[in-house]
Amino acid sequence: MVHWLAACPSNEMLLPKPIQNLIDSLSRLPGIGPKTASRLTFFLLRAPEILSFDLADALQTLKSGTRFCRTCFNITDADRDECEICTGAERDAALLCVVEDPLDVLALERTGGYRGRYHVLHGTLSPIEGIGPEDLKIAELLRRVRAEEIREIILATNPSLEGDATAMYLRQQLEPFGIPVTRLARGLPVGGDLEYADQNTLLRALAGRQEMD
Ligand SMILES: [Zn+2]
Repeated sequence: MVHWLAACPSNEMLLPKPIQNLIDSLSRLPGIGPKTASRLTFFLLRAPEILSFDLADALQTLKSGTRFCRTCFNITDADRDECEICTGAERDAALLCVVEDPLDVLALERTGGYRGRYHVLHGTLSPIEGIGPEDLKIAELLRRVRAEEIREIILATNPSLEGDATAMYLRQQLEPFGIPVTRLARGLPVGGDLEYADQNTLLRALAGRQEMD
């Protein structure tokens, strides 16, 4: 038997608008095709109301309840200027770890092996996608390095083509400051993502970081 959704050339004729709306919205998320979007929508339709209300509430406060830390550009609560890491008295302010996105901060924090601060670039250089230095928080990084007393800068961009190219570019930009610039040790899967690396691998990469030449 052919599934009735698959059998219809256009669901729009048959589905009430609220259902089609949610399917369309979910379909726009990464990794979710129309099939998964339909499955999730019908799951919510059958599930207790509270599940939908909680989800709607979480979505609504996602943007309004968060903001970027004005110093490191990590995500923080909307009611504070700086994140907990930047304001944490126990953090080593002279050690700066540069990462691609907030999920990488989370991954490094989970290891429990890093006590310095971070700087979140919000992406990597990618000529193909038209992403240049001005699209990332690079000027902000250089401003910080100029203003703060930093002993070491760890470039912890992903071990991918773009991550490596971004690290090379940053090393050049940071050279005039005369501060040691290190890169996470190899051992992380090439082309992989920091956020998916297991804690031990990440800890080893952090401990084995080497000065870039
Ligand atoms: Zn911060």
